[in-house]
Amino acid sequence: MKRGNLLTALILFGLVAGVGYGEWLYHATGAAEPEALDWLYNVGNLILIRPLMLMIIPLIFVSVVVAVTSLGDPTKLGLVGGSTILYYLSTMLLAVVLGAVLVTTFEPGVGLDPDVVEQLRERGEQDYRERADLFEEAEEMGLGGVWMNILEQLIPTNLVHEMSQTRPLGVIVFALLFGLALAATGEKGKPAIAFFDAAFAGLMKLILWIIWLTPIGVFLLVAWTVGTIGLVALVGPLGKYMILVIVGLAIHGGIVLPAVLYLLTRKNPYRFMWQMRKALMTAFGTDSSAATLPVTIQTAEMEGGCSKKSANFVLPLGATINMDGTALYEAVAVVFLFQLFGIELSFAELVVVVITATLAAVGAAGIPSAGLVTMVIVVTAVNTSLAGQPDAPQLPLAAIGIIIGVDRILDMCRTTVNVWGDAAGAKIMTRLAPDTEEELEEALG
Ligand code: ASP
Repeated sequence: MKRGNLLTALILFGLVAGVGYGEWLYHATGAAEPEALDWLYNVGNLILIRPLMLMIIPLIFVSVVVAVTSLGDPTKLGLVGGSTILYYLSTMLLAVVLGAVLVTTFEPGVGLDPDVVEQLRERGEQDYRERADLFEEAEEMGLGGVWMNILEQLIPTNLVHEMSQTRPLGVIVFALLFGLALAATGEKGKPAIAFFDAAFAGLMKLILWIIWLTPIGVFLLVAWTVGTIGLVALVGPLGKYMILVIVGLAIHGGIVLPAVLYLLTRKNPYRFMWQMRKALMTAFGTDSSAATLPVTIQTAEMEGGCSKKSANFVLPLGATINMDGTALYEAVAVVFLFQLFGIELSFAELVVVVITATLAAVGAAGIPSAGLVTMVIVVTAVNTSLAGQPDAPQLPLAAIGIIIGVDRILDMCRTTVNVWGDAAGAKIMTRLAPDTEEELEEALG
């Protein structure tokens, strides 16, 4: 068996075995004593997430410098950058509209037994209280605060501070400007450019080694998630909501994004999806597009046929701002909660959901449960819009607690779609920024 196939088989085995073992654990201990399974998360974190996180900042810095110095020309960078942001925003909007249509059509929050709803509320309030700090911080920040925070990250004052906080945006901006400056220095900059090229090759090698930890890492992390939530959640009172989110993600990832990819590249999108399998499975196992970034870059370039010029720039940006899965999920979750509390949303409020869910997804970091927290912004915006109505119905923020318990399973699925959206972006932008003559010819032909 080829090494690549062996690794795929091992990761797949890790995922499937993780689900099976987790479900067994749920019935054995997890349902009664979820904390008893914490060791699974802790070991998975040590084995896989921490080594991947360690790579993020050096990788982003070096890969963006390499992308920019090889693009060379600032107008080309402007074209690729502008097209990337346009692609990211439009696919996120498509995802969120799909989510809104599905949730208003199938109404998973309508018609539940009132006793069950009461139980969900009580349990939800408790879950919410446990994490109240995080939600209150997000509420205080509001949408304006989130965007101000993004702007401040885009214009940082201390690169080392941004790096130490693993805040990628400032690092991307600095690397971009530094790369442009190096390219502009001509002869003098050449040794530094060669240095970054070599450093990039070294980082890729290191990532390749880390990827071999993926099978065991995803096994432990998935076993922990399923062991604490249990697949039974899919048939419980929140089942319809969970299945709707999963179906929405499947439609977006399996039909909408492939269609966009085919229209813009004329290449078989499912073949590319298969080539990206390691990154997609890692996203599913780790719940984090940031932690998956090293694998995404490695796989996109080594197996997915994406150019360095495109992937090195498009993927770090995508892991930070492009979250199709999160956008779709936030729309479904928010409307579901309003339905559960018997509050009907008009078309105007749905528009508020669509816009704020897209913006909140951009603001969400590529880490587990980030989308759950930024959802507060969407709920607050809808509440504000409802405030003008007679009797002003409002959704208490603590309602979010209702879905905390099952969030991790949905997070695995939406993170996979987030990473798939980034990868599709890198493939599309390869047409604008091919590395080699052959790629150029292929792009033109
Ligand atoms: N976990 C997601 C990601 O890393 C973000 C989210 O919570 O939706 O892409």
